[in-house]
Amino acid sequence: MKALVLKAHGEIDQVALEEVETPKPKRGEVLVNIKAAALNHLDLWVVQGMPGLKLQFPHVLGADGSGVVAQVGEGVTRVKRGDPVMINPGLSCGTCEYCEMGEHSLCPKFSILGEHVPGTFAEYVAVPETNVLALPKASSYEEAAASSLVFLTAWRMLVTRGRIKPSETILIHGIGGGVSVACMQIALAAGLRAIVTSSSTDKVERAMGLGAHFGINYKLKDVAKEVRELTNGQGVDAVVDSVGEQTWGTSLKCLKRGGRLVTCGATTGGNPPADINRIFWNQISIIGSTMGSMSEFREFVRFMGIKKIRPIIHRFYSLEEGTTALEDLKNQRQFGKIVLNIG
Ligand SMILES: [Zn+2]
Repeated sequence: MKALVLKAHGEIDQVALEEVETPKPKRGEVLVNIKAAALNHLDLWVVQGMPGLKLQFPHVLGADGSGVVAQVGEGVTRVKRGDPVMINPGLSCGTCEYCEMGEHSLCPKFSILGEHVPGTFAEYVAVPETNVLALPKASSYEEAAASSLVFLTAWRMLVTRGRIKPSETILIHGIGGGVSVACMQIALAAGLRAIVTSSSTDKVERAMGLGAHFGINYKLKDVAKEVRELTNGQGVDAVVDSVGEQTWGTSLKCLKRGGRLVTCGATTGGNPPADINRIFWNQISIIGSTMGSMSEFREFVRFMGIKKIRPIIHRFYSLEEGTTALEDLKNQRQFGKIVLNIG
């Protein structure tokens, strides 16, 4: 089969379209003929290499995908050949105490498709049957692939961990990235007021066109000051921060007393000044969140169906154009998801 593989850690020039062996589904697994896959910032981390990540090269990239079940392994009962499916990219052991509680992303063996095991930027991928969900009727393969990782991450951050409520105000940094756009879409559909930030006036305007209440270009304005003005001096109820060092201090300053800071990443570095005085005095909660469970996967798919939310797709590429697509992601010009049409 054709696959977009990483030949060694380094830059995007280590990625190439190659012919590799088609995986065979093991017991409890299904082989999915991929129709669409979507890019995530995670793919760039994998290309670069991360501490503790040991891969067998060539390594097939890609976490998000959707397609048709081409073959089922022994013992598979829930799906059959020909079923259109979307894939939950989170893999867990299924037997530890966290998995038993349904808290799959807390599993000590938790891993992500394309990060630790061969991924979705290929004609076929083998995944456990518990990781596939019937493709929603209203969704295209492209939309399903574009929503899996980011909406799962956003759902757990906002709903399960962040416990958002209608009438609250939320600040979302770095609008344009997949997770931040998904957070904005969920927050707006759930009845919150959303304030977004970006270094691009175009992205701020695009977000406001999609319903964001306020947008701040952080290159031109002081975000904390603007947020205070927009909230009658109070601050916001919650902040979504996956930027890290660059925004952490601002996030804390933007929160009202008793507010929540939810983080799922640190793209600009993971060790900002802690500002402990502000945290205890204002009784701020710092909440970590990673990916999500299978039940959260089902929840966001249902929510998107009910609220008629469609993921925002920035651009489509073919599998052959995979490296160009990765360059496009790296340049951060996108608003929403970059999708690969495969097959
Ligand atoms: Zn487990």
